[in-house]
Amino acid sequence: MNYLLGSVLDAFFPRLCPVCGCSLVRGETLMCLSCLAALPRTRMHLRPDNSITARLTRPGLRLELAAAWMDYSRHSPYAAVIRDAKYAGMPHIAREAGRLFAREMLADAVPALADIDVLLPVPMHWTRLLRRGYNQSREIALGISAATGIPVGDNLHALRGHATQTRRSVEERMRNVGGIIAVRRPAELLGLHVAVVDDVITTGATLADALHALRAQAQPRAMSVITIGAVRSDEWMFKPSNA
Ligand SMILES: [Zn+2]
Repeated sequence: MNYLLGSVLDAFFPRLCPVCGCSLVRGETLMCLSCLAALPRTRMHLRPDNSITARLTRPGLRLELAAAWMDYSRHSPYAAVIRDAKYAGMPHIAREAGRLFAREMLADAVPALADIDVLLPVPMHWTRLLRRGYNQSREIALGISAATGIPVGDNLHALRGHATQTRRSVEERMRNVGGIIAVRRPAELLGLHVAVVDDVITTGATLADALHALRAQAQPRAMSVITIGAVRSDEWMFKPSNA
């Protein structure tokens, strides 16, 4: 968008920072610069042993890169970014979050990122896709792709919908997912480094399902996980089931 048009649009339709509510100025895309500076970054992409690998690593399953942009808490003002991306019909927010996170990882020269061959968004069942109009995980992957040039694949496929996870206990969540995700055209992924992309990791049950399907049905040479948010394990582990 040219400068004049951008300024005129900003004057008539001020874009607001989803975190603090201030008006965004030119150059601020997802949130204002001070909120972006204060983002509670996990920096997990710099630590191969982190809380995501702890959630997802199983015997025989190793992650090359386990990355989440920010610590996610429902009570944090930063939760608005994920909420808008998911529920407010704002796919561009998800895409921009993916792009900004990927740019930060590129600046950190994360070797495992450069090794990834294809980004695979966690799939959404078609009934939900029909209601929402977009899959936020695919939008995040498209943002990562815009920054890195890594292509986005559609090989992960949701066999059925899963009930919303928000009000479930850990045990219920683990039971609720599993065997939902399957791999389309697995031969395409033979020998590739695949990265599964999701919006938020909580227990890791959904991502574990995707990784399990990939390992069982395709033969990738390496697997990684990239998310925008990671719920700290102390926020879900001891939550009573009616919370
Ligand atoms: Zn702000």
